[in-house]
Amino acid sequence: MTEPKVFPPLTIPETLAAGPGPGNTDARVLAAFANAGLADHMQADVLRGMIESKLMLRSLWGTRNIHTYGVGGTGFSGLDVMLNAILPGDKVVAFVNGTFSGIDGLTIRMKAATREELAASPMDPRPASVTIVTIPHGQSIGAETIDRALAEQKPKWAFMAHWETGSGRINDIRAFSDACLKHGAMGLVDAVSSLGIADFAIDDYPGVVGWASCPQKGVLCLPLTYAPVSFADRYIDEIRKTGCASYVHHPILEARHWGVIDGKDVPAPAYHRTHSGYAVAAFHEALRLTLIHGLAQKARDYAFHEKALSAAVTAMGCTVTSNMTSLVVLNLPPSLAGREKELVQNCRAVGFGIWPTLSEPVQVRIGILNQITRPAITGIVTRFGAALADMGAEIDMAGVLAGLDRHYQAAMAAE
Ligand SMILES: *Cc1c(COP(=O)(O)O)cnc(C)c1O
Repeated sequence: MTEPKVFPPLTIPETLAAGPGPGNTDARVLAAFANAGLADHMQADVLRGMIESKLMLRSLWGTRNIHTYGVGGTGFSGLDVMLNAILPGDKVVAFVNGTFSGIDGLTIRMKAATREELAASPMDPRPASVTIVTIPHGQSIGAETIDRALAEQKPKWAFMAHWETGSGRINDIRAFSDACLKHGAMGLVDAVSSLGIADFAIDDYPGVVGWASCPQKGVLCLPLTYAPVSFADRYIDEIRKTGCASYVHHPILEARHWGVIDGKDVPAPAYHRTHSGYAVAAFHEALRLTLIHGLAQKARDYAFHEKALSAAVTAMGCTVTSNMTSLVVLNLPPSLAGREKELVQNCRAVGFGIWPTLSEPVQVRIGILNQITRPAITGIVTRFGAALADMGAEIDMAGVLAGLDRHYQAAMAAE
């Protein structure tokens, strides 16, 4: 007999999550998680919390879609529910401009593949019915590209990421929605990075019938909770006709536990699977905090602080290629080119959690989720500048910080 292997209790340090996500969860959300009592998934207050969360999610997302709720898990869990509408042989056009839309494209290819196509290349199928339109890393997907592809293909489904976190680019969701309407496609959108940061309302985009987001970016609720999804009636009607090859990730069945049955809000939810009262309490608190801050104000705050960070790293000699407001994607100064991963490792080793890009080309990503204050941005700028200097870059830190001061002073003067 070998001794059972028991490890000491796990300690995880608090780091500064200054990447694309997750963001540091608000202490009030963590408290809601830890202070919830143990109650089963059909207990009245757990169910009330789910129904209230559903209603708050509709406010946050600006939609009257009845099928708006959370999917237990991460962003890809919500995306899986949304993409489950795609059946083998379905005609799809997917626009890809970075890591995450690339993975979504893979999911789409797996779901749209026939049995033969899947068996021919099980991990990376290339179904004839799917067109992947690839836009170079660092560029946004624009109206002309979208319109041309949908006009040519006339697909049943079209897919795009709203904000592509891999390259830090915002894609043209207005053009996407319009082109879907014009060419008779049903639009599906990965809104993992934009929900809770961009000031937009689902109901302004009638060409998009499915939306999927995540818990840990703009909504700031990492204690593994719920990936928000929202589906228009057109999407739900389609699933009712075609069916869907999943019980747990079924867009209609999953909604029952949130009190959506037969297309209507009902006061008494039905069991779908076991939900955690802790997760419900945390998710509820995260939604409350976001709505209290106000989406429009939050969007302005992100834009303002991202501008400050972007100007500061530019003053250090970096080149910013992103246009998202929660994330700066940059090339290092020419003297440090090629040493991106080393720099990121150095930063991460001291609890400053920045990221490289996950697909080519290698760039550095610095995020500001939940760091939208002057001291927080100043801290990030100081740590990043020090890391560059440690690797031999000549940084005029006093000049960089003076520039940062001017950004904030000008804002204060304008108020
Ligand atoms: C982070 C991200 C994902 C993946 O989300 P997980 O929570 O890691 O599953 C998908 N799409 C986009 C655009 C993202 O930013």
